[in-house]
Amino acid sequence: MKHDDLLKLTYFRGRVALCAILRALGIGKGDEVAMQAFTCLAVPEGIMAAGAKPRYLDISPGGYTLDLEDLRRKLTPAIKAIVVQHTFGVPADIRQIVEFADQHQLAVIEDCCHTLTSTVDGKPVGTFGTAAFYSFEWGKPIVAGVGGSLLTRDFELAQRLQNEHAQLAEPTLMKRLKLEAQYLAYWALYRPRWYWTLRTLFHGSAKLGVAEGNYNPVEAGGECSPEFQMRMSLRFQRRLNKSLQHVEAHALHAGAIVERYRREIVHPAISHPELNDNVKAVFARYPLRVQDKRRLLALARERGVELAEWYNSPIHPLSAEGATTVHYEPQACLQAEHRSQEIVSLPTHQRVDHRYVDQVVELLERAA
Ligand SMILES: *Cc1c(COP(=O)(O)O)cnc(C)c1O
Repeated sequence: MKHDDLLKLTYFRGRVALCAILRALGIGKGDEVAMQAFTCLAVPEGIMAAGAKPRYLDISPGGYTLDLEDLRRKLTPAIKAIVVQHTFGVPADIRQIVEFADQHQLAVIEDCCHTLTSTVDGKPVGTFGTAAFYSFEWGKPIVAGVGGSLLTRDFELAQRLQNEHAQLAEPTLMKRLKLEAQYLAYWALYRPRWYWTLRTLFHGSAKLGVAEGNYNPVEAGGECSPEFQMRMSLRFQRRLNKSLQHVEAHALHAGAIVERYRREIVHPAISHPELNDNVKAVFARYPLRVQDKRRLLALARERGVELAEWYNSPIHPLSAEGATTVHYEPQACLQAEHRSQEIVSLPTHQRVDHRYVDQVVELLERAA
């Protein structure tokens, strides 16, 4: 690799890529990694698999991404890196965060699992920090089955990552077959209208071990899952390369759908995300803050309208008690707690058409 090349590597999952970045940065036991609450368990799982401890930061008031003021307040010498999540596709205040991190010698790892193409001042997210990671499972902008990748321009980091990547194993045959079956089922069955049914089916099969679930059991100081030594299967890699050719087309489609959501959902009890003038957000899902989340979800389920509820807690899907196992103390991040009580999100993917948007708008305008 040459000095100003961009290194891209694929991994079994996004969190595996995150863990690989931390390991290659020499971050592990005794170190802390700052990250926002209002996220999913995959992120602390990746940090803990590297041996480090997550340190939770709040999100900005009314927003979805990290509050730099909270990082200033909580910064300690134990914190060696910060994971910056562009939640739903809304870019974080990445320039300010990188500037602060540079002053304090912190590595910045961008979590781009929700967007490949959002920009800040015309520059794509994922290119501001030390490294970035991506995910390609169900519900992400590009679906390749299950999988993740990383990107870095840091020459020395790239060399270490490449060396370690060469040691990773191909997923076992059993895992590959299971994931392939899941992928095929997803493509054959998935429609926004069937969202609730398929969701129930998926959680049921994951419990039975028939499907690969979303999370691994994590134990502080315990062995991490063997998945953290796996790369993405060759079949999924090929599929990913093909799908990546359609990123721009997907972004245009999502943009047209979101434009309608923004224009037509005008109920006073619903708040749209605020976007700065210098950003372009390409949404994996379109988030709305609502006053009566429970009632709205029940209604959406009844009518067969795809309305996702995540994040339901600061470290989704963990309960307050469960979150302590990944070092989140109840009420530690009040904005994150609050946001998880009022968030719902709408689909923007290829299978959402304009007739479907009519139904969504009607439900929200009448029921909110
Ligand atoms: C999905 C997701 C991840 C992890 O992705 P996996 O591929 O499941 O490991 C990390 N961060 C965010 C914000 C995500 O949505």
